[in-house]
Amino acid sequence: MLVFDVQDDGKLSLVRFRGDILEGVETVLAGIPAAVQRTSVRFDCEHINYINTMGVGAFGRFMKNFGATRQLEFVRCPQSFIEHAMMVPSMVGGGRVTSLYVNFECPSCRRHRLKLVDRSVMKSHDLFPNEPCPGCSKPMHIMLDADALDERFLG
Ligand SMILES: [Zn+2]
Repeated sequence: MLVFDVQDDGKLSLVRFRGDILEGVETVLAGIPAAVQRTSVRFDCEHINYINTMGVGAFGRFMKNFGATRQLEFVRCPQSFIEHAMMVPSMVGGGRVTSLYVNFECPSCRRHRLKLVDRSVMKSHDLFPNEPCPGCSKPMHIMLDADALDERFLG
């Protein structure tokens, strides 16, 4: 199941998730509005592990409602979170993804590398930075539809 904790940095509320987004997640999420004081809310998604479609539905319904009156930002999103959010955009409640884990794969030797990529870096490198393969030095590819990602969450 999912748990969260909340910190206040004076300007925004930081909500850190840990665990899984599964059916029944709405009972956990229901505790967030009372715990968050700011209208700017940053969600740290790094420690979200397993996600299923039932959980995605409930998560999206909550965020759509919660984001209607707040500015939401999602940081350190795992690739599974991004993949689900591309199918169910309400998962980010009208907010923005400002950093995410990207899985790079080498087309030549099939090595993988997971890298945290910041939105500002994506923009300055035409979405994603070139990532040389640690094994053979050839440019690695990403496993996400970068154009769709940019349109939905990074604009
Ligand atoms: Zn390689």
